[in-house]
This record gives sequence, C-alpha cells and structure tokens, in this order.
Amino acid sequence: MRIIMLGAPGSGKGTQSEAIRKRYQITTIATGDLLRAEVSKGTALGRQAKEIMEAGELVPDEIILGMIAEHLAEEDTDNGFLLDGFPRTVRQAVALDAMLQKLHLPLHAALFFEVGYDEIMKRLLARHRSDDNEQTIRHRLEVYEKQTAPVIEHYKELGILRTIQGVGDIGQISQRIFEVLDATLDVINQTLASRQGQG
Ligand code: AMP
Repeated sequence: MRIIMLGAPGSGKGTQSEAIRKRYQITTIATGDLLRAEVSKGTALGRQAKEIMEAGELVPDEIILGMIAEHLAEEDTDNGFLLDGFPRTVRQAVALDAMLQKLHLPLHAALFFEVGYDEIMKRLLARHRSDDNEQTIRHRLEVYEKQTAPVIEHYKELGILRTIQGVGDIGQISQRIFEVLDATLDVINQTLASRQGQG
C-alpha cells in the first residue's frame, strides 16, 4: 500500500504515521525527520536547510525531491510506503506522481487530516520544538495555506483523497484511518486476485 499524508503542521501526521506503520508494516519516510537528521549531522544539505526550517519556510523542491528519490530507492518498499510531510507543494506532488508512474507504483491513497485553525495553533504552541515559536508557527501556517493546501485539491482531482477528521481521541482517529486503509487494502487485494484470475 502506497500512501501519503497531508495536513497542517500539528494535524497529527507524525503521531498517526507511527500507528499506520505498526499496523500495516510499511516503511515510513518523513521529510522533516530526514532534514532534522541532516541538520544534526551538520552536512552541507543540513546547513542549507537549517535556517529555512527555523524561519518556517519550505526547503527548495529540488532538495526535497532528491532526498525522496534517494530514500525510495534505498529503503525496503516491498510492502509499500507512507510519506509524511511530503509532498508540500503542487510541484512536489506532480514530480512524485511522475516518479511513481515511471516505476509503475501509483499511490493508493492521500490521507488528509482535517483540523481547524484554532486547534492547530493550540497544539503547536504546546509542543515547543526548536523551530516552533509563535511567530514561526504563524508563518508556517501561512506557508501551509498558500503552498501546501493546494496539494489537497490535486489529489482530490486524482480521486484518491481520503479525508480524516483529525480531532478527538488519538486512538479514535487511528481507528478512522484504519477503516479507510483496510478498505483500500481490500481493493488492492481484489485487483490483484482478479489479475491472477485472468492470468
Ligand atoms: P515537519 O517535521 O514535516 O513539520 O518539517 C519541518 C520543516 O522541514 C518544515 O517546516 C520545512 O521547513 C521542512 N520540510 C519538511 N518537509 C518538507 C517538504 N516536503 N518540502 C519543503 N520543506 C519541507
């Protein structure tokens, strides 16, 4: 199963990606984690990304796309993959679609975590990461609205958007996701079975 997760910073992607990984045994690739690892290792890429991340801006598409291509090639994706925090621009989405089409590995679902602005603000202010002060948070949300929110429409048009209500109990939200993904898996398995039947 190949899925991506969309949603504002603080919408619960990180928390829920862990639940998804555990239940479906798929490799998770989180671009924010990869970037933070580069920053703490002090690599050239990390030095370039650090200030951008601290300012709440997006790291350039080329850098992110290179990182994704590398990790998709390196990691075990036999069971599929879950991308967290990517794509964050329509350009990244279009490039991802092209990359996956070439590999004959289309996406099955784009999970969108829907959470209201006030709730997001409350969560982000409570979580205090080094790139989370109030001004940065506001800016990150603006960047999200402008550059990332249009990605939701992109996957809606492709017919694979699955909206999850991202408020309430963490376990309950996981259950909503599992319902959607179990149904997605059923469709995948049916398709595989009918292909085998034809072959
Ligand atoms: P995250 O942990 O997903 O919130 O990402 C932390 C920061 O890393 C973001 O605020 C961006 O500066 C950067 N970042 C992560 N993923 C991407 C991406 N797909 N495109 C551009 N910048 C990204």
